[in-house]
Amino acid sequence: MTAASDDTGLIRVLLPLPLAEPFSYRPGGAAPAPGDIVEVPFGSRVLLGAVWDGAADPLPPGKTAKSVLRRCDAPPLPAALRRLVDWVAAYTLNPTGAVLKMCLPEPRALVEPPPQRQVLSPGAAVEMRASPQRDRVLQVAREQPGLSAAELAAAAAVSPAVVRKLVELGALHADSVPAFRAPPPPDWQQPGRALNATQAEAAAGLRAAVAARDFSVTLLEGVTGAGKTEVYYEAVAEALKLGRQVLVLLPEIALTQQSLDRFEQRFGAPAWAWHSEMAEGRRAATLRAISRGEARVVIGARSALFLPYADLGLVIVDEEHDASYKQEEGVIYNARDMAVVRGKLEGIAVVLASATPSLESLHNVARRRYAHAVLPQRHGEARLPDVAVIDMRKEKLPAQRFLSAALVAELERNLAAGEQAMLFLNRRGYAPLTLCGACGHRLECPNCSAWLVEHRRHGRLQCHHCGHQQRLPEACPACGAEDHFKACGPGVERLAEEAAALFPEARLAVMASDTANTPQQIAAMLERMETGGIDILVGTQIVAKGHHFPLLTLVGVIDADLGLAGGDPRAAERTHQLLTQVAGRAGRAEHPGRVLLQSFLPEHPVIAALSRHDGAGFIAAEMAERQRAQMPPFGRLAAIIVSGADQAAVQAAARLLARTAPPGDGRTLQVLGPAPAPLHYLRGRFRERLLLKAARDVDVPAVLREWISRTKLPSGVKRAIDIDPYSFL
Ligand code: ADP
Ligand code: ZN
Repeated sequence: MTAASDDTGLIRVLLPLPLAEPFSYRPGGAAPAPGDIVEVPFGSRVLLGAVWDGAADPLPPGKTAKSVLRRCDAPPLPAALRRLVDWVAAYTLNPTGAVLKMCLPEPRALVEPPPQRQVLSPGAAVEMRASPQRDRVLQVAREQPGLSAAELAAAAAVSPAVVRKLVELGALHADSVPAFRAPPPPDWQQPGRALNATQAEAAAGLRAAVAARDFSVTLLEGVTGAGKTEVYYEAVAEALKLGRQVLVLLPEIALTQQSLDRFEQRFGAPAWAWHSEMAEGRRAATLRAISRGEARVVIGARSALFLPYADLGLVIVDEEHDASYKQEEGVIYNARDMAVVRGKLEGIAVVLASATPSLESLHNVARRRYAHAVLPQRHGEARLPDVAVIDMRKEKLPAQRFLSAALVAELERNLAAGEQAMLFLNRRGYAPLTLCGACGHRLECPNCSAWLVEHRRHGRLQCHHCGHQQRLPEACPACGAEDHFKACGPGVERLAEEAAALFPEARLAVMASDTANTPQQIAAMLERMETGGIDILVGTQIVAKGHHFPLLTLVGVIDADLGLAGGDPRAAERTHQLLTQVAGRAGRAEHPGRVLLQSFLPEHPVIAALSRHDGAGFIAAEMAERQRAQMPPFGRLAAIIVSGADQAAVQAAARLLARTAPPGDGRTLQVLGPAPAPLHYLRGRFRERLLLKAARDVDVPAVLREWISRTKLPSGVKRAIDIDPYSFL
């Protein structure tokens, strides 16, 4: 039988696949060290993986380990990143390999030579028949070096065959060059704006935190327009001065372009972008540059957090309170929290910036775990806008009209003065509900327990949960009545229609993630808004974040209390954050701003606090309430969602989980549910939820691990674990 000695000295290799554990391999001739990227046989495939720390388990009898095929010429995964992978896998109860996959979204990019492209330049003079077309091509090739054949043909307005022939004749010469050339490094010595005294103090604190080369978290809190970005750029300059890399996380891809432009202005060279919409070649080139330390500053969405930076020196999480940092699928994690974990493991400074910090971060400040830098005032002359609440219960609007008389009057005044206005409604599409006027039947998604939302521009009804789309049916599926459908309630499209009817001369634009869906389109629209090409911008929360519109003086919020319904424990906090952000768009430059909140709940603490500019009072009251209820940040939550196509099986599985739940004492540990999820049918699957509520000092992942290890669910029923849930749907 195989001698045990054959399998001594095995190493562990973690593969970027949803597998819990590294596999054992013989090191082969390569003698790889932990972190090395290696190529290994796996089943019938050849895969790239990372050598993991620790001793390999002995193989079961009768099994022999395969050998590593080669050690790749790629920078090894740093130890801190390997520890992060282990930590995140344990905390979120995901397979370690699934977390590695987030670090190496395209492992080949690390080991293969950078992508090349063929460019043409004029070759030696050759004997050939001259033609105006050929002359034009050669002239363009001289004037614009570095064009590909297709680009050259287009630039010279000739067919590709003309260019091909010139290459064949030797009149044009083809060269391989890197497809993506690294930009010059940002210049940290370039001076930023002259900071005011508070800004300078905050910046000095951040610079010191970076220079300390040690773990720290600073919450940089300042009203919109206070200059948080200017201040954290000082921390960026410090990290660059130390020769280290910087990651700036943003909650929305739509914000990256503005951010990249501003960065380039400040540092004289572009940063590297990272988000899910990038073309594959650029992703590969960026990943490679990150792993080799060539990408000095990365501005990206949450997925940029896990990339294999060669020498990360600073992480900034802008708009740290934003719920988009929560990834809700696959490995469920909060990038803001994991940024702090990465900072701790790397021993570096982390900066969390927000005008409306999360209660979690504020609580960490109160517990003295985070430093606090505060910019209480807007820079320069800009003042916070006046906020007025309009009680919609008293408003006598005709059916399916949504703009109050007061708001219409303000819009009129604004247009007459040549100033910009924004109408904010956090609902995409035309109308959230379509019903049959004859029988009352509501049009629902066939795959979800949700109404279909009409998108009139696209002539479609859409499900916002699964993406299902259909045309408006000819007749009511329930009673057969024709031409009886009624659109109920407003979406941004409908609001824009109302505004256009009231102000036909105004230049109007609608911005929502589905009307302006590419980052380029959004950037173009933002630019038009910034330069005064739009009079009234109608938008969803995408317009609320981070933008700087110097000419905007009026913000109208429709259905300000929209987010307050439902069972989300953070509903009030989030509504407060969102509306503060929206209100903060007004009057950012020299013109003062006005904000009108249309509300059906004007006495609600959130709405009342906004009208009094009493953010601090609201936070204090909300904090006290959370403490009383032992909810985050004072207690911990974890959700288990079971789902499947067979409702009875899902319910049985949920009941089984409830039966095997750890015994609660009602104080440190409590299991609530199971209950049908508010979205109890989603993408063709029935869903039941359980919620674990625990005191702060409970090791929730350990409790969950023990619990689910005792509970075998039937096949066909899927279990998702959401630690620190943000969505309660
Ligand atoms: P925040 O990130 O807090 O919303 P920004 O950093 O975007 O604020 O600053 C808001 C506006 O004020 C920007 O146009 C910025 O360039 C300007 N600004 C901030 N601080 C200064 C300063 N010290 N000098 C000149 N302009 C400043
Ligand atoms: Zn659906």
